Amino acid sequence: MKIAIISRNAKLYSTNRMVEEAKAKNHEVRVIDPLRCYMTIASQRPTIHYKGEELTGFDAIIPRIGASITFFGTAVVRQFEMMNVYSINESVAISRSRDKLRSLQLLARKGIGLPVTGFAHSTQYTKDLIKLAGGAPLVIKLLEGTQGIGVVLAETGKAAESVIEAFRGLKENILVQEFIKEAKGADLRCFVIGDKVVAAMKRQGGEGEFRSNLHRGGNATLAKLTPEERLTAVRAARIMGLNVAGVDLLRSNHGPVVMEVNSSPGLEGIETATEKNVAGMIINFIEKAAKPGKTKTRGQG
Ligand code: ADP
Ligand code: MG
Repeated sequence: MKIAIISRNAKLYSTNRMVEEAKAKNHEVRVIDPLRCYMTIASQRPTIHYKGEELTGFDAIIPRIGASITFFGTAVVRQFEMMNVYSINESVAISRSRDKLRSLQLLARKGIGLPVTGFAHSTQYTKDLIKLAGGAPLVIKLLEGTQGIGVVLAETGKAAESVIEAFRGLKENILVQEFIKEAKGADLRCFVIGDKVVAAMKRQGGEGEFRSNLHRGGNATLAKLTPEERLTAVRAARIMGLNVAGVDLLRSNHGPVVMEVNSSPGLEGIETATEKNVAGMIINFIEKAAKPGKTKTRGQG
């Protein structure tokens, strides 16, 4: 097969590992920087050009679209979909997963366990919003943050009010969320491919840190999931429409709750913690799933 990995940086661990595994299985593989693609949108004949060359003949793409380039990156993925190229994660699903509010609404509709979450545009009713989310301590987070940046723990109602007002003053969109204290600064990263959790790790935040992000100094170990946790992770990925997803769960005293669903989950942490060949499993999935015309949305919506 001819596979393109849509990634800004061929040197990244995740990109590199997928190239390695694709080559090992005798596929032709290329890394395409989405920001160097340019496209024509003419009726019935969409094309993509890259550094002066027209890109043709790809059977499948693996999008690895960073949060900072979601807008243009998903447009490139959509263009491939319009050209009938199979995308392991489709552009609509990637856009959905980037917006925490939209994701939580979709998951809530289907009865997935979530922390009690509030959101508002105006700061006029902040006190009531805090009450609805269960009162302090509360977690306040930016709608489009990543790597734990923009996630704040407010221990008192007063602190919550000031943080909410400060963020809103900066015109940032935020969520106000029940603090899952019993998770003790740990979360579960469940790596889903298709309808299976293929690897899972527990990430524990550093001393005195409630955020478990590895970028914030957390450390990762192999995790053993309960059947309920597995089911929650697989269902969350399916609801988002992602074939490859990193579903983050917290162990709460009301069962597993979903934090977020990541559409470009990193491979380094999970492969190291679990000693599993996750990159190889992604390529195996593509071999089975990628058929012309198998793109569900064909660039719709
Ligand atoms: P990001 O997208 O920046 O990673 P997250 O929503 O995943 O933002 O939050 C980062 C980390 O903060 C989570 O992995 C978790 O450890 C902690 N955290 C976030 N929300 C809560 C919450 N409601 N209760 C307890 N811990 C939380
Ligand atoms: Mg996170």
